[in-house]
Parts: sequence; structure tokens; C-alpha cells
Amino acid sequence: MEHKPRILVVEDEESLARILGDYLNHSGMEHRWVAHGGQALEAFRDYKPDLVLLDVMLPGMDGLAICREIRKNSEVPVMLVTARVEELDRLLGLELGADDYICKPFSPREVVARVKVVLRRTRSVPRPEDSLFRLDEAAQIIHVQGQRLDLTPTEYRLLKLFLTHPGRVYSRDSIVELTYDMDQDVTDRVVDSHIKNLRKKIARELGDKEVIYSVYGVGYRFEL
Ligand code: CA
Repeated sequence: MEHKPRILVVEDEESLARILGDYLNHSGMEHRWVAHGGQALEAFRDYKPDLVLLDVMLPGMDGLAICREIRKNSEVPVMLVTARVEELDRLLGLELGADDYICKPFSPREVVARVKVVLRRTRSVPRPEDSLFRLDEAAQIIHVQGQRLDLTPTEYRLLKLFLTHPGRVYSRDSIVELTYDMDQDVTDRVVDSHIKNLRKKIARELGDKEVIYSVYGVGYRFEL
């Protein structure tokens, strides 16, 4: 099942960002707003957007530099927003790797329509985590390849932590902090045994495919 498209909006004009955000929400998309250029890359790594709406003129780091940084290791579509029509030619000549260019003032309706076009163009391949694991937070259920996993509450919290932060390495201490009740006295061995059980349950559905990796001397990492 596909998740809602996530749009990172990097825009220092708050009123504009709000209007855009409303339109995105109405169109069934999620968004995160960042007003300062210096926060954009961190938000990009953290939020893992499907598309970035990126203003050119920003405090901190400008949109062109942000776009270049993103392109160093990501193909996520970027739509550059410029306040000056005259600047468009120059931007196009810079070969920034942006997927579309929008000039202010714009109609938010049109921006959202173009966001959808770009997403359709670039989103033909589903993310692996969407097809393999599905997290239903409301029901506290996790499916693997369409099969519901029979998890204890602790195993659920563990796997949820991993699924929401793929690739991140967690020490046993941080796992304890993030997934166990405060008043529980949890040793490293307890964490290891929960991980072991979780692996077993996942392996019933996925076979030999490893998803929870041991990071020697540190802890664990989830990766598809
Ligand atoms: Ca601006």
C-alpha cells in the first residue's frame, strides 16, 4: 500500500507556506515546513520526503546550494520556487537537477497540480518498505508482505522504531530508552532476546532475507 506523498516545503514566507500546506493537505499529501535554509538538509534527511518544494531566496542557505547538496546523493524530485521570472533563465542554465521551476506569485492550486505531475513522473517505483512492511499505528499492527505479525507490545515498539528510522544504528541503551517503560530494569541480554524473537517472527514471512542487522560493538540497525 502506498503512503501519502510527503512534501518538504522550504519557504521563509510563513503565510505562503501555510497556504501551500493547506492545499497539500487537501490533496491528500503530507508536508513538513522549514523556514530557514540552514535547516533544510537536516529536515530532508529526517523526513525523507517524496518531493521538495524549494524556495530560492532563503535565510541561511539558499535554495540553489540546498538543491546541489540534495543532488549529491538523492534523486528525490525538487521543484525550485523563484520570486523573479527573470531569474528563470539563469536557473535553467545552472543545471541544478531540479525537476520543475515555479515563479512567484503563484496560485497554490497550480503548484499542487504540478507537484502531482512531478510525483507521477518520478514515483512509478514504490519504495521497498511500502510493499514489504506496513505499519498500522492506530491498530498497533505490523504487516509483512501482507501477513500480520503476531507481536508482543515490546516487539511491536521495537519494530516500529526500526521501521520509522531505517538505516539508523541504535545502541542497546537507546533501544531501551525508546521502547521500554521507564520503570523496567532492562539488561542488554533482554534486548538481545527480544531482537532474536523479532527476527524469528519476521523470518517466518521473509525467509532468509535479513532486515535487522547486528552492528558489532554498538547495537542494531534495520535495513531493507
Ligand atoms: Ca524567500
